[in-house]
Amino acid sequence: MSVLQPTTTILASTPEPLIFVGERLWLDFVNSDDTNRARRAGRAGRSDSLDSFDGFIGWLSAARVLDAERSASMLRRAQQQPTAASAAVHEARRIRNVLRALAEKGTDESDRATQLAIGEINRILGRSAGTRRVESRADGGFVRNFVTVGDVFAGLLIPVIESAADALVLGELLRVRQCADSGCARVFYDASRNGKRRWCEMATCGNRAKAARHRRKIKRG
Ligand SMILES: [Zn+2]
Repeated sequence: MSVLQPTTTILASTPEPLIFVGERLWLDFVNSDDTNRARRAGRAGRSDSLDSFDGFIGWLSAARVLDAERSASMLRRAQQQPTAASAAVHEARRIRNVLRALAEKGTDESDRATQLAIGEINRILGRSAGTRRVESRADGGFVRNFVTVGDVFAGLLIPVIESAADALVLGELLRVRQCADSGCARVFYDASRNGKRRWCEMATCGNRAKAARHRRKIKRG
């Protein structure tokens, strides 16, 4: 066995760090399915954060929606109520599809994708009873928490749903774009001043396009 083997194995099985390039929580949530990019990069490991309840909680925690304490408590609850936990992650995936359609197509209110999204947003907002709280974090900062009454997992999607609701209320959908790389499914809010952001990330998709342009130029002579 070569000395390089252990390193290679670790690289192959370690998931990429979660990337947040959407500028809005609901768009990052849509991007939590990074299967396309992973396949193209020949990357092993987890590429869909919502492939399990643990992955879902890990994503919410990386997105700073849940603090460490609440994440741990959710994972404990999931062990006690595995059926409810798996229903929660199943619903999260379904909502993600609805939000992807909204991000890709929903620009006017008569649009089907928009109507569907509004229905789902109101359903989730309507069924979740609970209390909003500001709590201290271990590092001295503060975190906003939503403590649900009743179904313990019902509140998990609330911050994501509120972010999508904000996009509708603030009229942000016209600035929601899909990465210009045809092999990349990521979406983002274009916060640039001139409204001409094209790539999810310069470091990957943007540079790939730049390199391709350069190659074409050389070929032309
Ligand atoms: Zn991209």
